[in-house]
Amino acid sequence: NPRPLTAEGASPAIAQWFAAKAGHPDALLFFRMGDFFELFFADAEAAAEALDIALTYRGEHQGQKIPMCGVPAHSHESYLARLIRRGFRVAICEQMETPEEAKRRKAPAVRREVVRLVTPGTVTEETLLEAARPAWLLALAPVEEELGAAWLDLSTGAFETEALARADLHALLARLEPSEVLAPAALGLAGAVETAVPRDATRRVAEAYGVSTLEGFGEYHPAEIAAAAMALDYLKTTQKGAQSGALAHLSRPVPRGSQGVLQMDAATRRSLEILRAERGGSRDCLLGAVDRCVTAAGSRLLAARLACPLADGDPIRARHDAVAALLAAPALRGAIRAVLKGTPDMARALARLSLDRFAPRDLAAIRDGLTRATTIAEALGHPVGLAAIPPLLARSAAALRPEPDPAPELARALAESLPARLDDAGIVAPGYDGQLDALRRLRDDARGAIAALQLDLCQAWGVAALKIRHHQQFGYLAELPAAAGEKLLRDAPPKATGDFAPIHRQTMANGVRFTCAALAGLDRRLSEAADEASRRERLITRHLRTLCLAAAAGIAGAAEALAEIDIQAASAELAADGGWCRPEMTERPDFAITGGRHPVVVAALARSRAGAFVPNDCDLSAGQRICLLTGPNMAGKSTFLRQNALFVVLAQAGLFVPAERARIGLTDRLFSRVGASDDLAGGRSTFMVEMAETAAILNLAGPRSLVVLDEVGRGTATWDGLAIAWAVLEALHDRTRCRTIFATHFHELTALAGKLPELSLATMRVREWRGEVVFLHSVAPGTAERSWGLHVAKLAGVPRAVLARAGQVLASLEERARGLDPLSDELPLFARPSAAPAPSPEHPALAALAALDPDRLSPREAQEMIYHLRTLM
Ligand code: ADP
Repeated sequence: NPRPLTAEGASPAIAQWFAAKAGHPDALLFFRMGDFFELFFADAEAAAEALDIALTYRGEHQGQKIPMCGVPAHSHESYLARLIRRGFRVAICEQMETPEEAKRRKAPAVRREVVRLVTPGTVTEETLLEAARPAWLLALAPVEEELGAAWLDLSTGAFETEALARADLHALLARLEPSEVLAPAALGLAGAVETAVPRDATRRVAEAYGVSTLEGFGEYHPAEIAAAAMALDYLKTTQKGAQSGALAHLSRPVPRGSQGVLQMDAATRRSLEILRAERGGSRDCLLGAVDRCVTAAGSRLLAARLACPLADGDPIRARHDAVAALLAAPALRGAIRAVLKGTPDMARALARLSLDRFAPRDLAAIRDGLTRATTIAEALGHPVGLAAIPPLLARSAAALRPEPDPAPELARALAESLPARLDDAGIVAPGYDGQLDALRRLRDDARGAIAALQLDLCQAWGVAALKIRHHQQFGYLAELPAAAGEKLLRDAPPKATGDFAPIHRQTMANGVRFTCAALAGLDRRLSEAADEASRRERLITRHLRTLCLAAAAGIAGAAEALAEIDIQAASAELAADGGWCRPEMTERPDFAITGGRHPVVVAALARSRAGAFVPNDCDLSAGQRICLLTGPNMAGKSTFLRQNALFVVLAQAGLFVPAERARIGLTDRLFSRVGASDDLAGGRSTFMVEMAETAAILNLAGPRSLVVLDEVGRGTATWDGLAIAWAVLEALHDRTRCRTIFATHFHELTALAGKLPELSLATMRVREWRGEVVFLHSVAPGTAERSWGLHVAKLAGVPRAVLARAGQVLASLEERARGLDPLSDELPLFARPSAAPAPSPEHPALAALAALDPDRLSPREAQEMIYHLRTLM
């Protein structure tokens, strides 16, 4: 539409639509009309397209037809899910009264209100959530120099805060992978919901929790409180229809601080593929390879732990103790896992109960979850095969029996098989509530009375084929075949009088429908009893909800304990299956791995039956902190680099590691630069990104850090690259003093071994066999004897003639390079770093080459240039 539409001249309902839409211009408006949610105007066009449903028209507004589409209210969730996934926000506008109530008020339309704004970070429905991933809503509040962050998962109630330096924002985003971000425009964050930083944040947060001061909650930086207030305000706007107490399940904001946490930047997370892989499916990331949890809540907690490993020894060792105990007691572990399996997701059920957006199965989830929790608590109370259970498990076991415990009452109250929706009858078990039972009896009696009445009417009306049936619209009616019906209409038999006098309702092609005073009376009694019963049932479900909310803290605690126990048992299972070992965590900068494996590659090799994984040792302990790794492409360098970095992640997340033996000094920061790191979206060249990432390491890494680096300097001309790699290696050795594995193509760098005492040389072993190259995938001390690039080129199918020519060129280059010793000060590159590295520019081919700017050449120009250079030879 060319003109923006106004509400002028709108029908009453459409006028309401305009009013609701004005409050939520950036959301699609789901406008409740009877059994449907309807969308109008541009919303309808967008939704019809996104959902692939029919666009129709309804009435006119300002002389134009109104585009419309709709989805059935009872199945709207699945449509919502699709829209939210497509990046839409949806405002739900509900009818707040029945049409009868509106008529009584003499209102032109039923009252409607936006009760909820559905956004990616505030959904709670199962269909809209990933079972095994948290759904973070992240609020960011820059306050002076500090950046306050607060993130909450409305679907589980988790809520945490942190104050960080602005430079660490991207690391935080990479760690949380939030579903939705709130930030002021000044932060310039693409895709964030623009939200102002509130002024009176402390008061707002206190109010949300119904306390007068936050002192009892913990110590916060003002920026953290500002961010927490932003998140809470957003919940208030999006969940406006929710009743008071709706956030009962929300934890108080827990200040996390970056203390005690392993620091990893966004590039490191990408490179290590912790929660997702760049290519491949969900099992190709670390989480996918190590997740043996049997509950979704366990998987969620494991994802959170791998994304945020610890840095302090004691809590890490406590987790290792728990895994070790369950590893030593396979029978106990098996019993626990058998009970855990199929345990419902209590945290999310509780959230839906609390937000009053629940289904009967959510009540059942609390009942079953708590029942199973008790069973597990009993198993841990008599730990078969263990002298004592370690403190972490003991603490979890204690939380498994919440007080008060609503499970027994839920067990008595809930019917054996539950209906899907709250409006359906049959949620409450017989025998739980006397009054409900009486109403149901009345209803059933009336049903029996109707069956008896059918017999009476057959006799009184003299029609054997009479049937009493229920109709949605008219209630119970007596149906007669057409001929018998016509006859009854013409002359009723003498007995068809009084309560049995037929009253005509409807004539159809093949039958006639009647009622009579007796039938109408029964029908009324029946529907009254049914209404009364469903009112009573609703009252009881409200009571059950209240019961659960009163126990919310205990239920949340039990849910968390179940997730914790699931993780520990799953880690023990993983260790038992794969022969993983408990890493010894030390306070020294140790790093000694024997027989280490890469968990994801091991699993991939096993799936494709492509041979066994070759375990490798790695020792970066004092005296040999830097390992310089050479070897051709495809020999297994990146795998080796990543697996050693992953040991730190696994160990400090509290898991065992895939190795025979591992001694790991507690690590404060982990850097991994392996694999392409293109930042095409950021508009920076590969080389620029590589240098920025290298700069971060040199600036931030320290003696307790661990760094794995692949091919520093590959993104630029050979001499530049070698020079940079050289200088970086020196700086890591002399200044940052971190444990490092440095993989390189530059064999020249191995000359540094003589100069840097803590540098050790390692290489990927390769064999030649009948003219073919064979990768042994094992790491050995020393340097690669020769370059295997030509062999890899051959493997890749480069034509023979080109390979032969490359062989000649290589030989002559090696001849020339023999004279160049990078350690000798005569080499101009290292003696005078600023000097142009072009030897003897007299030859016309070299002069032409020197004049080139390779970055500005298209592939085609480059090819032409090569032909040109050959003419100069
Ligand atoms: P590079 O980084 O040297 O090019 P990669 O680490 O990418 O090599 O390894 C190439 C392939 O070799 C991997 O996809 C994997 O299948 C296999 N591989 C790597 N390391 C091992 C190992 N230790 N044992 C068995 N196969 C391995």
